[in-house]
This record gives sequence, C-alpha cells and structure tokens, in this order.
Amino acid sequence: MAMTEWGTIVDGNPLRQTILERYADFFPFDAIDSNVSLYEGFTPLVPSRRLASRLAVNNIFFKNETENPTWSFKDRGTVVGVHHALSLGYRRIGTVSSGNMAVSVAAYGARAGLKTYALVSTSIPLEKLNPIAVYGAVVIQVEGDYGDLYFRSIEIGKRKGIYFINSDVPLRVEGSKTIAFEICEQMNFGVPDFVIVPTSSGGNIRGIIKGFEEFRRCGLISDIPTMVCAQAAGCAPIHDAYINNEDMISRVEYPQTIAHAIENPYPPSGNEVLRKLREGGGLCVAVTDDEMLQAQKELACEGIFGQPKAAVPLAAVKKLRERDIIAHDDTVVCIVTGGGLKYTAVCERHDLIVRSCSLMGLEMLISQLWD
Ligand SMILES: *Cc1c(COP(=O)(O)O)cnc(C)c1O
Repeated sequence: MAMTEWGTIVDGNPLRQTILERYADFFPFDAIDSNVSLYEGFTPLVPSRRLASRLAVNNIFFKNETENPTWSFKDRGTVVGVHHALSLGYRRIGTVSSGNMAVSVAAYGARAGLKTYALVSTSIPLEKLNPIAVYGAVVIQVEGDYGDLYFRSIEIGKRKGIYFINSDVPLRVEGSKTIAFEICEQMNFGVPDFVIVPTSSGGNIRGIIKGFEEFRRCGLISDIPTMVCAQAAGCAPIHDAYINNEDMISRVEYPQTIAHAIENPYPPSGNEVLRKLREGGGLCVAVTDDEMLQAQKELACEGIFGQPKAAVPLAAVKKLRERDIIAHDDTVVCIVTGGGLKYTAVCERHDLIVRSCSLMGLEMLISQLWD
C-alpha cells in the first residue's frame, strides 16, 4: 500500500490519489513517487445539453482537459516524464514546444526542483512566452525548422545530460493513456462509439488508443471506440496521407492555421498514428480555421472555453454527423485538450460585443436589450 509523506494510506481513496497511484499497474515504474504530481488528470466528462440536441446526436461529452494544473492535457505526460527523468537520476529536463508543453514542463520542473530548458519556435505569440518564463525555466526561442529542432534537442540532451520530454516520447504517451482510463471509469466501463482527438505530433492520440487497448486486454472493457484523428485543414499531414491511401505521411510545406499547437508539419508519430487508425478502423477529419473558430464559440456557449485547437473535435462532430458517419444514437467524446485563456488574442477573430453606458443610462440599456 502506498504511504504518503503524511503517513496516510491512500490506496482506494480516489479523492487522495494521483493518476500515478490510481493507474500504477499500467506504468513502467517499480515504485511511484507522487511528490512530482501537481494532481493532474481526473478531469470531468461533461455532457453536452444544447449542442447534442442541435446536432441530433444522443450523447456528446466533453473531456475537459482545460482543468489540468497548467490548463492542458500535457500535464499527464509531463508528470510521467518527470517521474522517469528523476528515477534515472537526471537533474535537468527540457522540451521543444509551441506553447502548452513548455508551460507544463516548466511547471513540473519547478515542482521537482529541476533546471528546465524550454525551446520554443519563433512563431509563438508573445502572450504564450511569459507563462513559461514565470515558472523560472530557461526559455529559448530557436530560429530554424521546428521539426529539426525536435531531433536536435534529443541529440544535445544526450550529450549534456538533459532529459527532453518532447511531444511524443514514450513516457509522455504513457501519460496520455490515463485519458482513456478515466473515460472508461466515467462511463462505468462502457465505451463511447467515437473519441475525437485534435492531433499534431500524434503523441496524445497514440496514448489514448494504447490506454483503451490495455484496458481491453485486461478485460475491463470489451470494445475500443472508433478513434478520430482531427486536424486543422491548413496543416493535416496525417489526414492527407490517410485519405490519399499513402503509406507514409509527407511534410506539409506551408502550414497555415491559427491553431499553432497543432501545426506540426511533420509529426514524429504521424506514421504510427496512420498505422493504428488503419488497423483499428479509425477516421481522420480536417477542419478549416473558420469551422474551428465557430466551434470554439459554440463550446464557450456551453460554458467551456477551449483553445481553438481544443474545439477541433466539435467541428469534426458536425462534419461526421452531416456525412451520417456519426448516427443519431451514438455516444461521442470530444477531447477538449487545452484552455482558451492561453490564447486570448484569437478572440479578435470573433465578433464579440462589449457595451458601455453611464450609471444613469444602465436601466434604459438593459430594457433596450431585453428579449
Ligand atoms: C499539444 C496539443 C495538441 C496536440 O497533441 P499531440 O500529442 O501533439 O498530437 C492538441 N491540443 C492542445 C491544446 C495541445 O496542447
């Protein structure tokens, strides 16, 4: 049984567990040290009310990953990666990121007292840089190809003794499995018909698929949902290879989307995701920036403010429903991967109205806006 520093038995009490403890048997660790945890995961599965009825789908759920310690699902992989780095004796960690992952690794690096290097692309918006630096990480904007930076960082890390927890490294994929585990538990070990994941490097969707597979192998569930890889049309290498029946993904030469976190032009796990989708009867959907923004607004009108890319699954539901691939009586889970406050500049793309008036004019204005 696990003992914490407070000497309390935590096993079996879900309100005291970390995801590391709850799913300990599914991680490649001999012993779990929950001191690295910021109590990530255990995010709610929120049923949609209005959108489900408007789209004529019985059940749409939002797996609200915006409730993680640094407002995105990345924390699940980071805690597992940092755990691994510490168990191997590393004192330095790093990541290559266009935003969310750098914030996550910086936070967990601070928590664990590790020197942390965040290598970011020059295209990342300014409002995303300070939330990385605030944790005390070394933030370096690197000019050059973002895809090459991924491989270069791992080389440098080997020489310098820095453990790079990049987008789809094996231990990060292990962390993403917990999204699938939680969905199974939240649905009482029934599984949804579709799980839709906004995809860039492919690490997250790989992890979610692996999670469902492991639960099935243990006999905890009997089916695996149809997995949907949802990409931004302006940068959809996995989608493009899938629909063109190609064996391998090709690099997208001019990625163009507002969803910066899913604009990896040459996703390192792309071929693996392609293979997994083909094996398991999965699907790919690409959505335009306009569709993504529209979905972001609709999601907010249900009370969940996600980043544009986090709204990609909802935009994908609409497309799949129109094509009758999602049927009326299906159950769909959208992974809302990250929180909208991370990227407020994009709100300028919405026609949002803020009114003003004098104290004297207030009642009149409210009457005018009555409906
Ligand atoms: C990282 C990220 C993604 C893409 O995940 P991959 O594992 O790179 O496929 C999607 N949405 C958000 C909010 C992210 O931070």
